[in-house]
Amino acid sequence: MTVMVRFLGSGNAFSDGGRANAAIHVTAPGVSLLLDCGGSALPAIKKHLDPANIDAIAETHLHGDHFGGITFLVLEQHFAGRKRELVVGGPPSLDQRLRAAEQALYPDFFGRVELGFPLRTLVLAEKPTELGGAQVSALEVRHVRLSEPHGLRVKVGGALIAYSGDARWSEHLIPVARGADLFICEASYFDSDDPAHISYRQLMAHRAQLGAKRIVLTHLGAETLAHLTELELEHAQDGTVVEV
Ligand SMILES: [Zn+2]
Repeated sequence: MTVMVRFLGSGNAFSDGGRANAAIHVTAPGVSLLLDCGGSALPAIKKHLDPANIDAIAETHLHGDHFGGITFLVLEQHFAGRKRELVVGGPPSLDQRLRAAEQALYPDFFGRVELGFPLRTLVLAEKPTELGGAQVSALEVRHVRLSEPHGLRVKVGGALIAYSGDARWSEHLIPVARGADLFICEASYFDSDDPAHISYRQLMAHRAQLGAKRIVLTHLGAETLAHLTELELEHAQDGTVVEV
């Protein structure tokens, strides 16, 4: 089974380099799963696919550059006439935070107009959950605590795709990445230490421990973008397609 991973948005919260916020589309026969749906995800999605084809979303954490686009996607799908269920999996406070975002952005719509399709949320955990045709596990990582961060392990057919979400280096990243055919890792920084994000240098120092077959960098910040020619690992741009 061929699994395609398309980086629709490969940028950080500041959209450095003009990149869209996090949005990664995983497809295979019977599978259409979006990993993260950042604030600027909808225009990035529409450049490459019909949003109606997205079955489910798996969220790594509750920061706007990762989940802020869901409200726009839901609104767009309502007016596009969607009838099919959309399922969103994520951290424990996902449902509460989505409701708060809806009320902050479109209080005249959400809760007042009946949504044209079922929107269901579920909490991801270490035990695999079926989501968009894939099996998704969530393992804790270290980022900003209030954002309830976890890394994802996505089993699609015989392939395993792992995704750091946003995370600083910690040993928690090892079981997230272990044995993955593709490990999608954030690289906000090139060599700066940051309390919330891993740098390329830190990742390279721990690369052997991770045990991933292939690593592709995403969530690139200005510092990493300034060093692209020095990277020994692959990196995504908006629109990059990786076959797993
Ligand atoms: Zn982020």
